[in-house]
Amino acid sequence: MTVEKADVVIVGGGLMGSAAAFFLRRRGRSVILLERDQIGQYASGVNFGNVRRQGRFLGQLELANRSWALWKRLPELIDDDLEFIASGHMRVCYREDEIPELEAYAAAPEAAQLDLQIYRGSELHARFPFLGKDVKGGSYAPHDGHANPRLAAPAFARAARRLGARIEERTEVADVQKANGGEFSISTTDGRQFSAAQLLITAGAWGQKLSAQFGEPVPLEANGPQMAVTEPVPYALPTVIGVYTRIPEEVIYFRQIPRGNIIIGGGYRCKPDMLNRRAYVEPRSTLNQLEQMRRLLPGVGNLNIIRVWSGIEGYLSDSLPIMGASGNVDGLYYAFGFSGHGFQLGPGVGDVMAELISTGSTGTLIEPFSIRRFASSAESAEKRSKAS
Ligand SMILES: Cc1cc2nc3c(=O)[nH]c(=O)nc-3n(C[C@H](O)[C@H](O)[C@H](O)COP(=O)(O)OP(=O)(O)OC[C@H]3O[C@@H](n4cnc5c(N)ncnc54)[C@H](O)[C@@H]3O)c2cc1C
Repeated sequence: MTVEKADVVIVGGGLMGSAAAFFLRRRGRSVILLERDQIGQYASGVNFGNVRRQGRFLGQLELANRSWALWKRLPELIDDDLEFIASGHMRVCYREDEIPELEAYAAAPEAAQLDLQIYRGSELHARFPFLGKDVKGGSYAPHDGHANPRLAAPAFARAARRLGARIEERTEVADVQKANGGEFSISTTDGRQFSAAQLLITAGAWGQKLSAQFGEPVPLEANGPQMAVTEPVPYALPTVIGVYTRIPEEVIYFRQIPRGNIIIGGGYRCKPDMLNRRAYVEPRSTLNQLEQMRRLLPGVGNLNIIRVWSGIEGYLSDSLPIMGASGNVDGLYYAFGFSGHGFQLGPGVGDVMAELISTGSTGTLIEPFSIRRFASSAESAEKRSKAS
């Protein structure tokens, strides 16, 4: 049997895998990217499109800043702007006592590059006159924005291919092994074999299936965030707006695209059908979104919803991704489970993983995302199963 070889094999062609393939080629590594279905078909292609840094875990802002610098350079890097607009992002709240929390975030040293501005009361409503009267305060991030997710992973994959990467769609990895001290051996469901000295798992909500093959199971759960889009209306809302709240039903966010449609997300998530790889929309979620939109943006009135959808996203129990080197196996790397906020990070994740794989280290803080944080729970689960 022919074994196809590269320096690095990547499993999963969402935004993370495609961006990593691109940046690895820029560092001169030979790359084969294996994608079970089509590039960008899952979370990376169907997400809300928020290119938002504010509100992230503070320890993730260094990575988000690196990614933001790449978003601004996309035309030069990949010959496509992905319709990225640095339109500003506003995080609003309905309660006076939540404003100090927005202020504390804005004052954190890690958030310095975001240039956050806090608004409240009449100043807030003068600057954003379309917001409902229940809105009491907000944190404005002038440099954050939004982009078109459908374009992102395919554009990175095309750019990687132009630099010489092999991109194999409709190629599902069934098994990954590493011989002692040797190369990784990767088998696909259609009987092909690949080998590489380094292996990167960017398999999104399916990442845990592969990490478990190397003795590193993680508490990853698949969920389907819910999306809707209205008919087009005159373009008047360039800022992306989202609600900061602890009440799940109140979580709502929207963005208007220059074509006029308003894209809405938030509220209850669905449990995807992982067998058929489909995530469905729950009608109660759409109804809740309409109710919440009328509270946040009363002028939205009776706009028609023309399409609803969901997507399959992997969430870790602590809502942080898995990113970095394996704790068990030399040459094995992970970047999956982005817990609902990987779109903005995508270019930065690709760049950091390429740096880490090529040089053995990265200057960007990723330790909080190490798979080793789950090692003790994996060990105790193993002990429990041996004891039973
Ligand atoms: C509806 C929705 C809205 C979202 N909104 C936002 C947002 O506004 N802002 C934001 O920052 N993030 C958002 N996210 C999250 C973001 O989309 C994801 O975190 C990000 O796209 C994850 O990219 P990925 O490449 O890790 O995963 P994916 O895009 O899921 O890609 C993983 C790929 O791996 C492939 N794969 C899996 N197993 C195998 C195998 N065995 N062999 C070969 N291939 C395999 C899959 O087919 C898939 O294509 C949202 C997610 C969803 C679903």
